[in-house]
Amino acid sequence: MTDPMRFETAAIHVGQDPDPTTGAAVVPIYQTSTYVQQAVGEHKGFEYSRTDNPSRSALQSCLAALEGSSQALAFASGMAATTILSMALRPGQLVLIPDDVYGGTYRLFDKVMNDRDLRYETVDMTDAPAVKAALADGAGMVFAETPTNPTLKILDLELLGDLAHDAGALLAVDNTFATPFLQRPLEHGADAVVYSATKYLGGHSDLVLGSVATNDGELADRLRFLQNAVGAVPGPFDSWLLLRGLKTLAIRMRAHCEGAARIARWLEEHPEVEQVYYPGLSDDPGHQLATAQMAAAGEPLYGGMVSFTVESEARALSVCEKTELFFLAESLGGVESLIEHPGRMTHASLAGSGMEVSPALIRLSVGIEHPDDLIADLERALS
Ligand SMILES: *Cc1c(COP(=O)(O)O)cnc(C)c1O
Repeated sequence: MTDPMRFETAAIHVGQDPDPTTGAAVVPIYQTSTYVQQAVGEHKGFEYSRTDNPSRSALQSCLAALEGSSQALAFASGMAATTILSMALRPGQLVLIPDDVYGGTYRLFDKVMNDRDLRYETVDMTDAPAVKAALADGAGMVFAETPTNPTLKILDLELLGDLAHDAGALLAVDNTFATPFLQRPLEHGADAVVYSATKYLGGHSDLVLGSVATNDGELADRLRFLQNAVGAVPGPFDSWLLLRGLKTLAIRMRAHCEGAARIARWLEEHPEVEQVYYPGLSDDPGHQLATAQMAAAGEPLYGGMVSFTVESEARALSVCEKTELFFLAESLGGVESLIEHPGRMTHASLAGSGMEVSPALIRLSVGIEHPDDLIADLERALS
């Protein structure tokens, strides 16, 4: 087979050779917890499914290929992936997180890790001097997320990598919104990439799973140890579902990005809309950076998420309740479009943190339905 395979090909073939015993074209769901040994300690590479399972191994190989990384490990959820990555740090180390980080990540560092000897600070990661100053406090990891959620700010990964490395810290990037089809952080200086595969990687709103990819052999060994020791692993069926989702990631992402770009431009012209956040808009503050950084597909693609503000919270709540094709729901990245109110839904855990989002903000996860139908749905809800 040609090496290295292109993204679309790797998504379908890496880790997915025909099943050696039956010739099955699709990796089976190895729904087993244990494996029979020929003699004590003599086995076919699998002993117990927390440690390793063939469906999960196939998935991990495919995830690594898509990331261009030497290793990828799968976890029970995106939060489990972030938790295990944080556990690889030393007690007392500081983690820097963006001031508009995913709400669950903030809650993890604020309410869980903070009580277990891992300090954290929030910082505006578009502000290099602020990041540099925060790093001076003995940081072990800069945990970036770009585009950010829900206002889709773009962080400069090369710059953050340089700052982190100068301070002896790792750069980890939550790449859930961009996916490896649009952006590969390891190529921009990151040491680890984290995903909620629940979103675009799975793509069909039918599974919960997370992963971490890295080229750092020592870090990978530590993560593999923790994966088994802690046991926050995905089951064979979810691993299989994700492998199935990955096969269409490239074509789905193109459709998400095309729909989102059309909707963002349409919203910009709408009299009821105050501000649109989408890095693909030429006047968006992150546009230039996104054009350079989100071009892994060979051309810049700006993602499937669009946020916008309307006049008031009451108006935002009413728009969220009026759409029909856009389902009112948390989460993102599925083929079906979703609408939500970050202030009261995904980002409610930021209440009282000083990092609350605007109550007039609405977030869209643009699915792959026909963009004309989606625009008609938004028009009905806005008027
Ligand atoms: C959903 C999400 C997570 C958490 O992932 P789960 O799979 O829900 O645990 C982390 N980061 C981002 C950006 C997310 O959207």
